Amino acid sequence: MRILVQKFGGTSVANLECMKQVREKTLAARAKGYKVVVVLSARSGDTNKLLALADEYSREPDAAEVDSLVSTGEQVSVSLFAMMLKDAGIKSRSLLGFQIPMKTDKDHGKARIVGIDNERMIAMLEEYDVLAIAGFQGITEDNRITTLGRGGSDTSAVAIAAALGCECEIYTDVDGVYTTDPNMCSAARKMDKVSYDEMLEMASMGAKVLQIRSVEFAKKYKVPVHVRSTFTDTPGTLVTQEDSTMEAVLVSGIAYDKDQARVTLRDVPDVPGVAYNLFGPLADKGVVVDMIVQNPSRDGKTDMTFTVPRADLKKTLALMEEIKQETGAAEVLHDLHVCKVSAIGVGMRNHSGVAAKAFEALRSMNINILMISTSEIKITCLIEEKYTELAVRTLHDAFGLDKDSMLG
Ligand code: ADP
Ligand code: ASP
Ligand code: MG
Repeated sequence: MRILVQKFGGTSVANLECMKQVREKTLAARAKGYKVVVVLSARSGDTNKLLALADEYSREPDAAEVDSLVSTGEQVSVSLFAMMLKDAGIKSRSLLGFQIPMKTDKDHGKARIVGIDNERMIAMLEEYDVLAIAGFQGITEDNRITTLGRGGSDTSAVAIAAALGCECEIYTDVDGVYTTDPNMCSAARKMDKVSYDEMLEMASMGAKVLQIRSVEFAKKYKVPVHVRSTFTDTPGTLVTQEDSTMEAVLVSGIAYDKDQARVTLRDVPDVPGVAYNLFGPLADKGVVVDMIVQNPSRDGKTDMTFTVPRADLKKTLALMEEIKQETGAAEVLHDLHVCKVSAIGVGMRNHSGVAAKAFEALRSMNINILMISTSEIKITCLIEEKYTELAVRTLHDAFGLDKDSMLG
């Protein structure tokens, strides 16, 4: 049995006309002889509406009930799609996360997949030609519905492809992975292929075209992922293993992430364990801290500055207030109007001067850098949010990404 996983995002299933295009893609795969597992997102805007509803009805919405609520967005999509396929004479049925089952841990709102029963899916594929599976959702061992974090349908799809040992097509509203967000920079260029590691960095630095965990799965289980458009037939971008041509490129993409907040704890006593005392409790609460800067000590005191996702700011500030009281720190400051911009490329491993070039480009536009962090294949600067577009375009240009030849 030849199986293909196709995933369609929110804009691809937004209305009947779009769904018809989705059906065409699935019928085309059927015509090539594939049994098709179609993973769908909620219709564009539905997840946000459901989240807003929870906030309207509850002061502090219970996380498990929020998951039960928001997972209905995907239920709508798969039921409608299965009906449409039946109309077209295709043997198909919808499946929700618990019916697979897609087993996850109990971390509501950002649950991790711990196991997928592929036997049941394979048995069903004997009977049906297309399975329409609700993305983004799973079930805990004690039968509670979970969701996998925003953009989580990508992860559902790649995890299912890994479990079935097949390829995965991710259909979206752009026709591939670009050197930067094509909706922000018109000079962005589509890449034919991108390595798992680069895609991991791009996703973790804000390129929401793929959820980061989907790329982790793809890398771990060597699932070839083809990102392409629902609305055209052009070939997209293959996310795959690194090869020597990729290394020749110094910087392959620019990403940005506005979903950031900067927090500073001022004048905290500079003693052994200070970092642990701050970041231990944050980790216990599931807050992912990204950039961290500790200032040099003056009079035995230091400032700790770090970034967290905006959604975790409330939790973070409450914890920092407690720590301020405990340690006698002076004050807790925060800033929401910040953005991370990153230049990413596996070629950086063997080259120096990439960071300097990025700093020079930002200076040429008078953009002040608030914080800096680097990894082997990425350089990230935190800047004021109002300069995001300018910074992305400037870096894209500085690294010659809009040109055909990008050899560094
Ligand atoms: P879907 O609803 O199909 O999951 P998303 O909105 O989650 O789609 O992701 C697609 C969007 O990702 C694009 O519309 C684009 O604005 C954005 N994006 C950000 N960075 C990139 C990039 N480097 N290449 C392609 N798209 C990107
Ligand atoms: N519907 C969910 C979201 O909007 C999951 C997804 O679309 O991938 O985040
Ligand atoms: Mg998405």
